[in-house]
Amino acid sequence: MSAMRKQPPFFTTTPSSSSYSLPPFNTPLTPAQLDAAFQKCLDLQNAGVTLHSKRPFAALLLAPDKTSVLFTHLSISHVQHAEAEVARLASIHYSQEYLWDCTLVSTWEPCAMCTGTIYWANIGRLIYAASEEELNKLTGAGNEENMTMSLPCREVLKRGQKAVEVLGPVKPWDDRVIRESGKWWKKHAVQKEKDVNGSREPELDSDYSAADLQSSIDWLS
Ligand SMILES: [Zn+2]
Repeated sequence: MSAMRKQPPFFTTTPSSSSYSLPPFNTPLTPAQLDAAFQKCLDLQNAGVTLHSKRPFAALLLAPDKTSVLFTHLSISHVQHAEAEVARLASIHYSQEYLWDCTLVSTWEPCAMCTGTIYWANIGRLIYAASEEELNKLTGAGNEENMTMSLPCREVLKRGQKAVEVLGPVKPWDDRVIRESGKWWKKHAVQKEKDVNGSREPELDSDYSAADLQSSIDWLS
């Protein structure tokens, strides 16, 4: 028996005769449509951070007219990312044929999980403002809040059988997204440092003051 076990080659995907082996029939977005889409997406992300205590990620889905917004989503958990949630919602409500002419827009390059969901939902076009590489720089290595992967969406899509069109990063929106998102990551890093150093006040239920807590401790002792 050979000690060296031969590794099977990757399953090679060759363009098939499927109608999804070619890019969407839909024409690309005009610069004005791109600006409008990114502005909406960044506004959504900023509202998510300031009003809803969400992390700085947002995604939306444009109809084939490249202007109407069909769905929007924020990042709601570590496994429910904005882009994947939009793609799932879209796949429930619309046919694959229709979605092939739709465009998913996101502030950040979708991770491997989200890119896979976009692929399976059959959304034909993906546009993002800032790259995964920039996100990694922003979050920093070993950041448990977001253990950013190093697997560009194009690498994921290259292994598929569909010609999903990708545009990104896009200037000047990448800089804007990095700047806006950076505020949250900086604040989060400072807060984490405080937690680690123990200088943070204990979290109290809003109905209880520190004095209330102290009196109950006194009573217990
Ligand atoms: Zn993701």
